[in-house]
Amino acid sequence: MFRSIRSRIAVSYTFLIVLAMTAITIYLSDLVRRTYLADLRTQLTAEARLVGEALRQPLTQVEPGEALDALARHYADLLNTRVTIIGVDGTVLGESHEDRTQMDNHLYRPEVQQALSTGQGNSIRLSRTAGYEMMYVAIPVKVEEQVVGLLRLALAVRQIEANVAHLRLTVVAAMLVTTLLAVLLAALIADRTAQPLHLLTDTVGRVARGDLNARLLPLTRDEVGMLTHAFNQMADRLREMISTLAEEQSRLAAVLEHMADGVLITDGEGGVRLINPAAARILNTSREAALGRSFAQATRHHRLIELWQQCREQGEEQIEPVEVDRRGPFLQVIVTPLRDAEPRACLVVLQDLTQVRRLETVRRDFISNISHELRTPLASLKALVETLRDGALEDRPAAQRFLDQMETEVDALTQMVQELLELSRIESGQVPFRLATVAVAEVVLPAVERLQAQAERAGLQLTVDLPADLPSILADAERIQQVVTNLLHNAIKFTPSGGEVTISAKASKDEVVISVRDTGVGIPADALGRIFERFYKVDRARAREGTGLGLAIAKHIVQGHAGRIWAESVEGRGSTFHSALPRVKPENVERA
Ligand code: ADP
Repeated sequence: MFRSIRSRIAVSYTFLIVLAMTAITIYLSDLVRRTYLADLRTQLTAEARLVGEALRQPLTQVEPGEALDALARHYADLLNTRVTIIGVDGTVLGESHEDRTQMDNHLYRPEVQQALSTGQGNSIRLSRTAGYEMMYVAIPVKVEEQVVGLLRLALAVRQIEANVAHLRLTVVAAMLVTTLLAVLLAALIADRTAQPLHLLTDTVGRVARGDLNARLLPLTRDEVGMLTHAFNQMADRLREMISTLAEEQSRLAAVLEHMADGVLITDGEGGVRLINPAAARILNTSREAALGRSFAQATRHHRLIELWQQCREQGEEQIEPVEVDRRGPFLQVIVTPLRDAEPRACLVVLQDLTQVRRLETVRRDFISNISHELRTPLASLKALVETLRDGALEDRPAAQRFLDQMETEVDALTQMVQELLELSRIESGQVPFRLATVAVAEVVLPAVERLQAQAERAGLQLTVDLPADLPSILADAERIQQVVTNLLHNAIKFTPSGGEVTISAKASKDEVVISVRDTGVGIPADALGRIFERFYKVDRARAREGTGLGLAIAKHIVQGHAGRIWAESVEGRGSTFHSALPRVKPENVERA
């Protein structure tokens, strides 16, 4: 009922005050009445004694009758009371207010009896003569220790009660005013007590809604002041903690956001609770699609799911390399139980080792390729040397032929070593490109000139198609010539007699693309992505004389110019190699 502290204090205070005040009022009004009656009685008694003194003589001398009635009336007027003079036998001898003759014997009136036995009597009772309540005081009148009569004074209680009621009213009024003031004070105190609590509630509510800067002013030095102080301290501490947490969280989020490894956290039920962009990319899903789903739905890979399940069941870390699919990423999967967070919760880390494995493969292939490439010429050199030693040295023309062959092999080996050296120097950035503004014709025509004769010998038609208004390129002319020569050389090499080789160029907004097209054997689709690798040859038997390094070198040169190189081909129909190089912008041309 009284939910608020304010009403609780106010109501209980008011109740207490009203109760106390009512009790005090009842008690006081009773006290006032009693005191008033006692005072009146004393006063009446004193008056009675005084009048009794004056009646000693008349009582002994005067006959009962008019004279005593007149005397009674006289004193009654003086004292404003009723006066009754009673004989020793109880007969009324004189009376101020009533008809004496009608009055009965008064000897057995309680006040008369009391006066006779104790020397003074009083009572409050219904007057049989007057018909209403009166206060009586009686005393004996004595002459020389002889009782000669009794004097009785009486006052109507009605009149007394009126006086008492007036007094009572005053007391009640005073109490009412006091009660009212006390209740007002109670309300004020209740209000004062509850107000800081309301303020505190408001402020706590604001903090709860996220306003961490909400504070209270400590206005008082009492318990509420202490509470306010404690609250402010708590809010300060809370803000500090939350900002530290937020900072830590954002740092962690940034790490997760940018780390190359995929990170996934699953909860006790197996739902994905966290997935970073790397994990989403590796698993070919999106954060939105994965969050809240089960791990199995999010990853859709049986080996991953098995590892995760094992970790959940055994509570032990699982580490295993997993190939997502034949062409997909190669992963090192680490599943760790997160016992501290939640039972059966797991942390899954996916390290993408595709690149590492690819490099590993490249390195292994490189070694095997280089040994393979070296083995053939070395074997034929060894055979030639042995033949010479076994007697061919004596046969001079044959010896000459063998020596020529040996020279060819040595030259091939030397070229290969030189190309390798060059490739490694370009790759490691040791060869600085001397970039300058170069006309496309300047790099294309010398290469065409150099290979024209070879094309004719192979029975091929070599066509150059350069538009007149081609912009210049920013390039190291000698190096780009080397690239063009290489592409042309390959085109001639892999195009059967009667075919065509065309070299053309085209400008776009930022680049000039030089293309070499042939109508040769072409390249199978699955090899197209690999031909720029070192030592890669599509058909080892057919490309015997090459080293497989030419395109790798070409790629590195073009990339060193911030350009691109790529190939298109249909097997059996021919290939086109494109090399895009950055063009010189018109404003730069003027300066050049
Ligand atoms: P190589 O010195 O053996 O020619 P490259 O690196 O220049 O080495 O070429 C790599 C391989 O790419 C070649 O062995 C050949 O199989 C393939 N290739 C290159 N150019 C062509 C072309 N124009 N047509 C068909 N195949 C080509």
